[in-house]
Amino acid sequence: MRITMIGSGYVGLVSGACFADFGHDVTCVDLNEQTISALKNGQIPIFEPGLEALVSENAKAGRLTFTTDLAPAVANAEVVFIGVGTPSRRGDGHADLSYVYAAAADIARAVTGFTVVVTKSTVPVGTGDEVERIIRETNPAADVVVVSNPEFLREGAAIEDFKKPDRIVIGLEDERARDVMSDVYRPLYLNQAPLMFTGRRTAELIKYAGNAFLAMKITFINEMADLCERTGANFQDVARGIGLDGRIGSKFLNAGPGYGGSCFPTDTLVLVKTGQDYDAPLRLVEATVEVNDRRKRAMGQKVIAAMGGNVRGKTIGILGLTFKPNTDDMRDAPSIAAVQALQDAGAKISAFDPEGIEMAKQVINNVDDADDAYGVADGADGLVLVTEWSAFRGLDLKRLHAAMNGNTFVDLGNVYRQKEAEAAGLSYTSIGRAIGADQTVGTIAAE
Ligand code: NAD
Repeated sequence: MRITMIGSGYVGLVSGACFADFGHDVTCVDLNEQTISALKNGQIPIFEPGLEALVSENAKAGRLTFTTDLAPAVANAEVVFIGVGTPSRRGDGHADLSYVYAAAADIARAVTGFTVVVTKSTVPVGTGDEVERIIRETNPAADVVVVSNPEFLREGAAIEDFKKPDRIVIGLEDERARDVMSDVYRPLYLNQAPLMFTGRRTAELIKYAGNAFLAMKITFINEMADLCERTGANFQDVARGIGLDGRIGSKFLNAGPGYGGSCFPTDTLVLVKTGQDYDAPLRLVEATVEVNDRRKRAMGQKVIAAMGGNVRGKTIGILGLTFKPNTDDMRDAPSIAAVQALQDAGAKISAFDPEGIEMAKQVINNVDDADDAYGVADGADGLVLVTEWSAFRGLDLKRLHAAMNGNTFVDLGNVYRQKEAEAAGLSYTSIGRAIGADQTVGTIAAE
């Protein structure tokens, strides 16, 4: 099939490359000339494991091309996906749909023949109706069906998620479009990925309901971890103890500094706003947003407390800045609020992140970057592990301590155990594990 992807960011590029890998003929379009010229030269503007090879193989095979010229790419396509950004709108937190609507108008002007227009961007319920209205108004002769096909990939595991999804949700009310979408995803459902057809509004809402539920689950275990810390219980055992109940499930029960990234913070806010607009308030999601926001900044206070209550003039080393490992994405990363709180309290910050330091410098000021974890430890009064990259999972704690000026180690990823940290001479703080609490169990299934 001839597929055109509007927007070649995280979702557009990964989806486009994977569709090409299925054998479709894919053109990725982006307004950003730098992005397109980099892609044409085989450079990938984002860090995502496996993506560079996938893009280069499919580009070489002639199935994947890149352009800034939307009109011919749309005119030639049987299916046009909209994968542009939908950030939170300043002020009211609702989704900024201006990129989606601009893409819809551009598509309407360029379209020829029967074309299925698919919204892959995460959009509030009812957006498909507006996309359809814009297309009809801009080009009344257009033979177009608008479909919703939300994307569930996770950064850091995006290709695997796209190629082996738990489900594919397709929202439509048109039989011709159903046949086209079945062809688009045929390579996947031959592999047994459940293809779920729903109404368009239902599909739009499934995406938000899923992300809000996951954000709530994370926030629940974070609050439970705080309670464990104050009561002398070990949250990892609590998480395992509840996660083994099949109705709860063990995934997403790792406590940490709060959720971040491009999706959960935005999607929860948008869902809250949608609930208010439709007079169906979502109080659990409202509480999730509030608790998570407070938590991110509270992590700075946790570090200050671990360092005796005063960090003025102290140097604090940060291990990991991105919102989670295996991405260079800094959007709404918990490290931002934590570093800000430490800087406000007068600390100097040095940091190392395996992939995210350049992105981090765009959102965090006055951070000295080091070459690795030991470089961050060099002369530091305290060390904070924020993002649990694999590179931080087997550190030589004695060597870290020897490089440091002080001995405080705050492990927000719960990667280490108190006993081993103390044996290396470090004063250790983690999340949800009170000092002296039993810390022998810690094997919950990975996300
Ligand atoms: P992104 O910011 O990485 O990429 C968006 C791209 O669209 C940018 O490169 C931008 O230049 C381009 N663009 C904007 N308007 C355009 C237009 N009119 N024509 C051509 N290009 C245009 O965003 P992203 O992270 O890929 O997210 C895209 C959507 O997918 C969002 O709605 C997001 O919520 C959703 N989503 C993201 C993820 C994720 O993990 N990043 C996962 C699932 C869903």
